[in-house]
Amino acid sequence: MKIALAGNPNCGKTTLFNKLTGSSAHVGNWPGVTVERREGIYTGGIGQRKDVGIIDLPGIYSLSPYSPEECVARDYLLGKSGDKPDVIINIINVMQFERSLYLTTQLLELGCPVVVALNMTDIFERKRGSIDIDSIERLLKVPIVRISALKSEKLDDLMNLALSAASTPRSAWSILSESDLSSCINPIRKILDKAGVEESLFTAVNLLCGDIESGSVFSADASLRSHIRLAEQISPDGDIAAHIADLRYKYICGYVTLFVNRTKDEVTASAAVDRVFTHKFLGIPIFFAMMFLVFHLTFSENMFMLGIPGPGAALFGLTEQLIEFITECISTFFISVNVAEWAQSLFVDAVWGGVSSVLTFLPQIMVLFFFLSILEDSGYMARAAFIMDKPLRVFGLSGKSFVPMLMGFGCSVPAVMATRTIENEKDRRLTIMLVPFMSCGAKFPIHAIFGAALFREYGDFAVFGIYLLGVLFAAFSGILLKNTVFKGGDMPFLMEMPDYHLPSVKSLIMLLWEKLRGFLVRAGTIIAVATIVVWFLQNFSLTFEMVGANSDRSILSQFGNLIRPIFMPLGFAGGDHGWIPIVAILTGFIAKEVVVSTLTQLYTVSAADIPQDAESEQNLASQDAFTESAIADSFTPLAALSFMAFNLLCIPCFAAVGAMRKELSSRKMLAFTLLYQLVSAWIVAFVIYNIGSLFINN
Ligand code: GDP
Ligand code: MG
Repeated sequence: MKIALAGNPNCGKTTLFNKLTGSSAHVGNWPGVTVERREGIYTGGIGQRKDVGIIDLPGIYSLSPYSPEECVARDYLLGKSGDKPDVIINIINVMQFERSLYLTTQLLELGCPVVVALNMTDIFERKRGSIDIDSIERLLKVPIVRISALKSEKLDDLMNLALSAASTPRSAWSILSESDLSSCINPIRKILDKAGVEESLFTAVNLLCGDIESGSVFSADASLRSHIRLAEQISPDGDIAAHIADLRYKYICGYVTLFVNRTKDEVTASAAVDRVFTHKFLGIPIFFAMMFLVFHLTFSENMFMLGIPGPGAALFGLTEQLIEFITECISTFFISVNVAEWAQSLFVDAVWGGVSSVLTFLPQIMVLFFFLSILEDSGYMARAAFIMDKPLRVFGLSGKSFVPMLMGFGCSVPAVMATRTIENEKDRRLTIMLVPFMSCGAKFPIHAIFGAALFREYGDFAVFGIYLLGVLFAAFSGILLKNTVFKGGDMPFLMEMPDYHLPSVKSLIMLLWEKLRGFLVRAGTIIAVATIVVWFLQNFSLTFEMVGANSDRSILSQFGNLIRPIFMPLGFAGGDHGWIPIVAILTGFIAKEVVVSTLTQLYTVSAADIPQDAESEQNLASQDAFTESAIADSFTPLAALSFMAFNLLCIPCFAAVGAMRKELSSRKMLAFTLLYQLVSAWIVAFVIYNIGSLFINN
């Protein structure tokens, strides 16, 4: 048995899904979090059944398809994607009763059993609202139950109703059957019935709305046409779809809401706060100030000029010490068991050195995500999307693109998938192209290490500047591409503002844990493997002779030197070790963290030929401190910026490229995108280095 959860975005479907199935799918306080359908098995005890599947769907406002993720929900409910639900649980946010019922009036037109769950009753009751459920049940002719998904209230009652509804057939009916259009709907339905069309009532209404081509359902039936023409004559301005929508709202407001009582203090604190956050002039400066604050807390060594490090930098210091300690233990162990020199070089210097150089940044990355998740879960980010809609339009995007772009700061893979909420295919593709310009979590160590190495106490400004560069370049590309490749087709921005609430500690911890686990798994797998590959390429020549780590004949240095001319104008490819950053960039396609682990690895071996007396004195403590000083020696500030910019803008890692390929669903588009990113990275790095050189004497 399959039970589908259908309802408006942000009404609590995923929360309910998690409670019923014991899963931990991402719940976010904004519309558009769920973009794919997700299945789980009901784990509650009701009816002792073990075969009840629960399906979480993306939110929909109606059954008319607009965006790709809405089509996922609609196709499933209509049984177009293979299987069909046995029961639909229609979740309604009681706080938005009227608007939510619009979808309900459409679901009633399907033959499938429906149970209505009034969610968020905890808030409703706190505000002393009351609702006459019996009367509404009689009007809608489906069972209704009040629940609170968040507080797990009445979920057993809901499942009882749903399971019994599944075994009771329900006949489709429409609130339109008492309207002036009934004289058209009924005969059309009869024609469809005779032709054996399933869901004849729903299809009839959709034929009138123009959502389905009449030809595709029933070829050239003259009487069918005449009924549609009649409906056109009845409808004001001949617009049947608008007339039907109007009838639905009139029914809802004229009958159903008579049984809902609300207190009139609707202008809440939330609205007052919104007046500031979404203010015409203040909104955007507030947004940027908030963002800078987040970066300041994450990176600053001198928080609020107080002379103490911020939480991010403090945690970074602690981790550095911890990793240093572990490194010492490991090398002592390796020396005491007397392993071969190559094994020491591979496992201690290469693998552990590379992996630990990335791990050092983990707590700091967590701090960044912690602050961003607070902004997300509290409901602020939905406001940010709203205030950014207007400026984004200038750049050929809309507020709808904001959410995917924001997710891009975490990881491009889910961000690219999140573009499914964008109705317009051109806007969607454009957003996919621009998402990788948002600096993802894996690029964080690159910025952090270069920021610290060359900009010292101004590190947080340098890093914020790089993040900003990504955003600005995406904006610039938006304008450029919207006026050339992706011309036309603007859609209005419709996104509802969720209520503000205090972020829940549990969901914050869960989110951070997921991220942390993801990074640890990557460190242990893809990054570790990459360091081994780099070690081999560095220690062997093209003829597979072991040439020693620091040789010009190694595969890596030969290849790096071969393509070096391309990077010469960017400022970071000069000098004896100029091939190292180039190789690091290339390994970044595996995963962006690998850029840092490769740099660490290669600078460690290349340091072997620096005169001992210069370096040994300092007894360089940790890997990162070492890499930092090597970077400070080999890069000028401008070259560092150029290198950071190149990594920021060039092709993302292959996992992201895979996601882009799937969502763009066009090889040509993908090739164009990758080429665009590569060329942009080169040009921007070139401009930074060369224009900068005119002003700053390196
Ligand atoms: P979806 O978009 O329909 O999947 O909605 P989510 O499950 O992601 O929930 C959206 C927001 O509503 C989250 O911030 C939830 O914590 C909140 N929420 C869900 N159910 C309830 C409830 O019963 N009461 C309250 N107060 N909040 C809820
Ligand atoms: Mg959801």
